[in-house]
Amino acid sequence: MKFVSFRRGDAVQPGVLVDSYLADLSAAATSLLEIIAGDHERGWLDWALSKAPRMPSGSVQLVAPIPLPRRNIFCVGKNYAAHAREFQQSGFDATSSGQDIPTAPVIFTKAPSAVIGPDAAILANLDPTNSVDYEGELGVIIGSGGRGISRADAMDHVFGYTIMNDVTARTLQHKHKQWFLGKSIDSFCPMGPTLVTADEIPDPARLKLETRVNGELRQNALVSDLIFDIPTLIETISGGITLMPGDIIATGTPEGVGIGFSPPRYLKSGDTVAVTIDPIGTLTNPVH
Ligand code: MG
Repeated sequence: MKFVSFRRGDAVQPGVLVDSYLADLSAAATSLLEIIAGDHERGWLDWALSKAPRMPSGSVQLVAPIPLPRRNIFCVGKNYAAHAREFQQSGFDATSSGQDIPTAPVIFTKAPSAVIGPDAAILANLDPTNSVDYEGELGVIIGSGGRGISRADAMDHVFGYTIMNDVTARTLQHKHKQWFLGKSIDSFCPMGPTLVTADEIPDPARLKLETRVNGELRQNALVSDLIFDIPTLIETISGGITLMPGDIIATGTPEGVGIGFSPPRYLKSGDTVAVTIDPIGTLTNPVH
């Protein structure tokens, strides 16, 4: 199932994309988050879809699948080896102590208010240091929550997958040591365009991630290259924190970010960033 959230007037409503049409689920649920968290009986979704009005999918503006997460987005730093090396070599990592490949997952968070949807603008002008960079990533959406989730059980807690762009102000990331400020600026968390349920992606390690800036391929990686895989991330985060339905984990970015170049190739007004992971789609955002 390919869930979306879309705008109608001032309201944001849940839907499902089926081929070229969108099934409007707003009569059955107020939001996609409610569907994820809802303890619906088996068959509820089929019932809701059978009642759902349909419209051409191109006729609505999609927003982020979860436009305002209930709490911070969990993120993973340095989770692809080649990216960990490029970050270390860039000199922008104030936390590494000279080490590039981490020995345990590096977990940080982004503020929920940073989330924007497909086609919304990344407001690079909000970074006073003019060092805005992209990070294409696979996002994991938690279904059933819990604490102390084992690696073996972890995938049973995954509702589905989306695309994230962990946009980062590199100078702020470096200057403030903790990464939060540089990664939580308003609009610095594009998400979408869809949320594909886990049953349609039985092996996320096979997914391919591509990031393009103005059409130029910058990142091109397989999720199988993650240093810490999705079950390890869920086990690690839930070790002491209760995961909740609708929680989001951005799993890390591969090699090819702007600071991997010398000199760095930062985003600037007029650029367009597009992150593609099939079958989720392409998350495209202009830079203002
Ligand atoms: Mg990242």
